[in-house]
Amino acid sequence: MNIQAPKGTKDMLPKDAYKWHYVENKFRELSEQYGIKEIRTPMFEHTELFTRGVGETTDVVQKEMYTFEDKGGRSITLKPEGTAPSVRAFIESSLYNEAQPTKLYYFIPAFRYENVQKGRLRQFHQYGVEIFGSQEASIDAEGISIAMRALDELGLKNLSLNINSLGCPDCRKKFNDALKSFLKENYDDLCPTCKSRFERNPMRILDCKEEKCKKIAKNAPTILDYICDDCKNHFEELKKYLDAIGIKYTIDPYIVRGLDYYTKTVFEIIYKDLTVCGGGRYDKLIEELGGPDMPAFGFAAGLERLIMTLESEGIEIPRSDYVDLYVGAMGDDAKIEAFKIVNALRAKGLKCDSDHMNRSVKASMKYANKTGARFTVVLGENELQAGTAKLKRMEDGQQFEVDLKDLDSIVKVVK
Ligand code: ATP
Ligand code: MG
Repeated sequence: MNIQAPKGTKDMLPKDAYKWHYVENKFRELSEQYGIKEIRTPMFEHTELFTRGVGETTDVVQKEMYTFEDKGGRSITLKPEGTAPSVRAFIESSLYNEAQPTKLYYFIPAFRYENVQKGRLRQFHQYGVEIFGSQEASIDAEGISIAMRALDELGLKNLSLNINSLGCPDCRKKFNDALKSFLKENYDDLCPTCKSRFERNPMRILDCKEEKCKKIAKNAPTILDYICDDCKNHFEELKKYLDAIGIKYTIDPYIVRGLDYYTKTVFEIIYKDLTVCGGGRYDKLIEELGGPDMPAFGFAAGLERLIMTLESEGIEIPRSDYVDLYVGAMGDDAKIEAFKIVNALRAKGLKCDSDHMNRSVKASMKYANKTGARFTVVLGENELQAGTAKLKRMEDGQQFEVDLKDLDSIVKVVK
């Protein structure tokens, strides 16, 4: 049987590893600049965490979760997102007792049973940030600025940042009433899923991907006309903070986001119709999941979409996956010597490799070329007797004679 990877999953092959490392390192580096610490939560959680945390009426919970019963009869779900698990850990370890805000970041695989298409996988990866404990709009602006800076420093310029406010539960109730009276007139034209959303969560209809629902949504009332003074002020503050650091945005009153927990700020960063990054404020979730009444803000960026975007923009990702020195060897004594030298050079911090395929001199050079080694040396009888060898710089063919007993001289040439 020829077994293939499950639909919607992708291997990260070694040839692409440097791209992932580059993007991940950028996010790690920025996270540290912003005083954000890493959190790692389990790959799976109790299903209830997501039905309560993400929301019963969302596509994620209704259609997309990988849920199964484990051998102990518990309902378990592979995590479809990283916010609810972070909140669970925050509550479980009483991190709310520490000085606030709590700033967390994570890299996670996420699992959603989706219709597989470009930029839409069933196992994908996210970089996410969650900041708990502050209701200040400066937190929202800071969160958005990390995402914008990371994307900018990765070289992506043609991105649009769209922001909106979904208000608090009070504004939401007023808006839902207005929305429902508008939608009532168009009820017959809604898709079956949206018909079922009509009573339970009419705002979700604004996020429907069906053409006929999109058309109706275009003329629907917008939430910004219904938000209360407090929420309006918060949105104004956010804009001030974004302006203060020169982040450009568009207000898009139709952003709803796919998950139920958002309040006040929501945002999306879009590249050619694909949302690369999305998030917002969720001031009720910590309490909803059994913690104290504490505000929160978070976002997640899809790493596959991000790397795809870098590639389609032709942005060159710097390679870091070559060795500094490849050491070939002719004959048994030379092989052992090469092995020894490489071992010692690695301990001095050089990235190097020796031959394990009994390659000829010519094949060694070819291999070194193909793998992108920066320098190559081949040891044989002559080199061992003389105690010296010539390192070849692959980029221009220039040779450098080195003393094989003086490894630091090799490091000096290669570094
Ligand atoms: P979309 O509207 O594209 O379905 P979403 O609102 O479901 O996105 P979030 O749950 O906010 O997305 O996840 C944050 C980010 O994770 C998205 O902006 C996207 O980059 C990425 N993402 C979400 N679902 C997938 C998927 N199935 N495959 C690849 N990346 C994804
Ligand atoms: Mg989605």
